[in-house]
Amino acid sequence: MLLFTPGPTPVPESVRLAMAEPTLHHRTPEFEAILKETRALLFELMATDEVVMLASTGTGAMEAAVTNLCHDTLLNVNAGKFGERFGKIAKAHGLGNIEIKHEWDTPATVAEVVEAVKANADIDAIAIQISESAGGLRHPVEEIAKAVKEIRPEVMVIADGITAVGVERIDVTHIDALIAGSQKALMLPPGLAIVGLSHAAVEKIGEGKGYYLNLASEIKKQRQNTTAYTAATTLIIGLGKILKEIKEGDGLGKLYCDTARRAKATRFALEALGLHSYPKVPARSMTTIDDENAKEIRDLLKTDFGVNVAGGQDHLKGKIFRINQMGLIEPYEMVWVVNAVELALAKLGRRPYDGTASRVFNEEYFKSILKSESK
Ligand SMILES: *Cc1c(COP(=O)(O)O)cnc(C)c1O
Repeated sequence: MLLFTPGPTPVPESVRLAMAEPTLHHRTPEFEAILKETRALLFELMATDEVVMLASTGTGAMEAAVTNLCHDTLLNVNAGKFGERFGKIAKAHGLGNIEIKHEWDTPATVAEVVEAVKANADIDAIAIQISESAGGLRHPVEEIAKAVKEIRPEVMVIADGITAVGVERIDVTHIDALIAGSQKALMLPPGLAIVGLSHAAVEKIGEGKGYYLNLASEIKKQRQNTTAYTAATTLIIGLGKILKEIKEGDGLGKLYCDTARRAKATRFALEALGLHSYPKVPARSMTTIDDENAKEIRDLLKTDFGVNVAGGQDHLKGKIFRINQMGLIEPYEMVWVVNAVELALAKLGRRPYDGTASRVFNEEYFKSILKSESK
């Protein structure tokens, strides 16, 4: 079965093998050397002033960012399940919470966030997804962050980049916390989260809040190439391996470029079949289609073509399907997927099969490669 869900994503064989080595004790020079190297690679990936790893899923890092950086009221953008989660975290910790709510296909605007921040002096942090995975939506986070900092520089900007870090280059100039998770674009098993922090964020964290998710304890220890509690050694070894492979291979720039090219070609191929892209501004992390036969298409992809794509949640259950674009994906795999979607539509009697999807994908994908090579 081809795993094409936008998290978890497939783990490359070389990474699986690196994680199959006998367990290392975490308080040893051997492991500290691995942590040091992985940390250096993480700085290149995140481009933030500080970076910490947490033995938790992405939600743990969301919670750590909120509790350590918001002491009064959190403004969160809820345009999907993950945006909604930030509001729930704030409430669970007794913080004030103001929410900007949108349908799951609609990005937040700079103006509405600025207006909310201006209207509520209690807001000391905002939280938003860069790529909201519930509907495959891209929020204009960098622009929002810049505008917020212009009016209230002390407001902390928390950006959930769990399906954005490793997908595209993110301008972190005005971002205080950038969150990543292992099982999405980083192609690892679930269980490791990463928080990149600005100098201002580290300053605001001070002594930190909470116990296990106290970022001050982790910053202190990880600067010494160790962790506050038992390190997720296997996952950190896997992270170091994948980041090194990317670096020593074609580099992050090529990964971002391939991802953008593949996401665009996939969307064009599916639109050429008459399908509709759901989000008003699509993220590059996934291709999201809304369709009355979404469930049937998804079922056929699984049973007849060995492709596992994700469906929708809550009110979008059975209404959308989401095809992963994160990680190192061969274009021939994506050709198989778009061709399978076309065959599924033929089986459903929607349109006769004529090879449109794979033709359009190949044209779009390889034309842009030829163009960049001839420059
Ligand atoms: C998957 C995901 C999360 C949650 O991560 P978990 O690892 O399931 O805790 C948060 N935000 C976004 C955008 C995600 O895609």
